[in-house]
Amino acid sequence: MKLEELSAVELGRRIAARELSSREVTLYFLDRANRLDGELNAFIHIDSEEGLRLAESADNAISHGDVASPLAGVPVAIKDVLCTSSMPTTCGSKMLEHYQPPYTATAVKNLTRAGLVPIGKTNMDEFAMGGSTETSHFGLTRNPWAKDRTPGGSSGGAAASLAAGMVPLSIGSDTGGSVRQPAAFCGVCGIKPTYGRISRHGLVAFASSLDQVGPLAHYVEDVAAILQLLSGHDNRDSTSLKQPVPRFTAELNKSLKGIRVGVIHEHLEHEALDSEVRAAVLDGQRVLEDLGATLVDVTLPHTKYSVPTYYLVAPSEASGNLSRYDGVHFGFRSRVSAALESPLDAMIARSRSLGFGAEVRRRVMLGTFALSAGYYDAYYKKALQVRRLIANDYRAAFERVDVLLGPVTPRPAFQLGENTDDPVRMYLEDLFTVGANLAGIPAMSIPAGFTAGGLPLALHLEGPAFGESRLLNVAYQLQQAKFFNAKLAPV
Ligand code: GLN
Repeated sequence: MKLEELSAVELGRRIAARELSSREVTLYFLDRANRLDGELNAFIHIDSEEGLRLAESADNAISHGDVASPLAGVPVAIKDVLCTSSMPTTCGSKMLEHYQPPYTATAVKNLTRAGLVPIGKTNMDEFAMGGSTETSHFGLTRNPWAKDRTPGGSSGGAAASLAAGMVPLSIGSDTGGSVRQPAAFCGVCGIKPTYGRISRHGLVAFASSLDQVGPLAHYVEDVAAILQLLSGHDNRDSTSLKQPVPRFTAELNKSLKGIRVGVIHEHLEHEALDSEVRAAVLDGQRVLEDLGATLVDVTLPHTKYSVPTYYLVAPSEASGNLSRYDGVHFGFRSRVSAALESPLDAMIARSRSLGFGAEVRRRVMLGTFALSAGYYDAYYKKALQVRRLIANDYRAAFERVDVLLGPVTPRPAFQLGENTDDPVRMYLEDLFTVGANLAGIPAMSIPAGFTAGGLPLALHLEGPAFGESRLLNVAYQLQQAKFFNAKLAPV
């Protein structure tokens, strides 16, 4: 079996048993990544030197009997929105083109402490604003399954790098679907944990009340294993949960007999839902019933407000978070005739207009407008009120069911360029994913076969806050069913 076909847990097992060295595994994946990236552009930065240094130190520790975790020695790719002091961190933006942070995000530190080997930074929509990885200053990423299509976004590089077997594990971030939608488009698993489960320290802020780090992998057991290492309280993030972290791998094999699975009326009967995506969800329902689950019809009545609510809350928070990019504190500064004009305001305005791309500027303006005096009550405050109603819908649903099953996206991976001239069309693709972020609950995307044209299909599982174990359990059982097996793209 080729190394890219093994699960990360199996790679970790062989490395710990010294059947393989982390060095040879890392070299193998670095070679694939370097070879395939010319066409896919999944990475902004591949760091062979740092990767090999970390691999050798993992091998060294293991040779002394010190196996830091079940994934020690396994390579991982990091979305370029997470700060790394040893590699640049650009957020896909010209604004941060040459930025190298003085510190490393807690999530990444947790991984290196557990012996994992970051080999590079993956491409993304600029500042994670987007759903197609087309707004990156470093060029678009292609879907390994169909190179004229988007890998999704904003963690498009994370999902594409996995689907192409360039890495066995990948870390993304999810503010409104950015882990789950690319996972769905590329045929891999991805989870957005409960808000606060993983520290946001060093995750460059987009919308702080929605942002969560989330891992992607081919296999559910790999997601569980890496989520374990990423999770936990961090003094540096006051919103990180103080709850003890459950053993996510412990319940994967639990029987689904008697479990109640909610079928979301507003998602399954949505007019925008593609027929093959719908058929995949119905297949998923059948498999779960065969495994002993009971299907329950549920309703999330405020679904139709979720996209408008998200696109007020997220840009409002972004407009504040991105005010720090002023041409002084970080990154890009416009120097055009500054010496002659010299007013500070002009320099800041020019730096921001030239440093940010069109979508980021649009969001900053939208958010600034929604928060401005006279409009605050009508837009931002109203959106917060509706956000509460959306969270209440989920709460009511989880009084009746254990998990919700539905589609991740209205349709499979769309064509590159298809939505680029119409931001609202792009926003509407997020219909089924933003609810979980607004409500703070965990949600996961898992592969569910292919369309007749060979594009990946996916299932969306959502659970109550802190309910990752159950989600992973259901996802694992689904993946065991033959139809849902993980596959690599034929690159
Ligand atoms: N597509 C959504 C947006 O454009 C979600 C992005 C994300 O989760 N980072 O905002």
